[in-house]
Amino acid sequence: VRVALAVCFLLCCPGMSVLRDSMVRRQLAARGISDEKLLDAFRRVPREEFVPDGLRHLAYADAALDIGEGQTISQPYIVAVTLEALQLTGAERSLEVGTGSGYAAAVLAWRSREVFTVERNAKLAASARERLARLGYEDVHVLHGDGTLGWPEHAPYDAIAVAAGGPSVPRALLEQLAPGGRLVMPVGATLDSQELVRITKERSGALRTERLLGVRFVPLIGEQGWSAPA
Ligand code: SAM
Repeated sequence: VRVALAVCFLLCCPGMSVLRDSMVRRQLAARGISDEKLLDAFRRVPREEFVPDGLRHLAYADAALDIGEGQTISQPYIVAVTLEALQLTGAERSLEVGTGSGYAAAVLAWRSREVFTVERNAKLAASARERLARLGYEDVHVLHGDGTLGWPEHAPYDAIAVAAGGPSVPRALLEQLAPGGRLVMPVGATLDSQELVRITKERSGALRTERLLGVRFVPLIGEQGWSAPA
């Protein structure tokens, strides 16, 4: 078995790192993602570890992929746009809403001091927690709960990324954003399309909103999001 695993490693891993570099060049840099440190973070995270076994061959496809429970791991480009819009310096305490597979949290961890991530689906939260621990992401903390309420115990956050689309930005998240902090979230009046918006909390406490691009995310379901389907 060990010999088989070693052969598998030699055959698969160089291939995956070539695919990962190509994803960073063709899907991210070529489309305008220019933060070199963020591009480097994408080069460090093995996306194949965050997708179901049967989809490993598609890990670097330019697409969102099913991760079970009716949820998806987002398209790498959309994760990159979201994280670049957060203008990370690496010193941030960051909050993510919608852990899913844990992939975006892992990339975020390379550009943050500490990451807190909340997932409403218990199975996804448990498997992301296990996966992130196995891969050595000790500074990423996963909570099973309603992320529309944030994670008040660890607030305030310098950066907040929301990975599901809601009708408006949850009040709790705005309250948990530090002065000078940035929040990026898909917002839309219907379930099937949104605009990615960035909200900056000025030092004075005033909020500044910028519209970034049209996107399509799974719904943000919770007390300050959409209602759960009956
Ligand atoms: N960031 C994830 C990744 O890298 O795999 C992908 C996130 S997926 C597009 C959106 C996730 O948001 C789903 O896993 C869904 O269960 C979760 N979600 C939806 N509403 C939520 C809420 N109120 N609180 C926390 N998670 C929520």
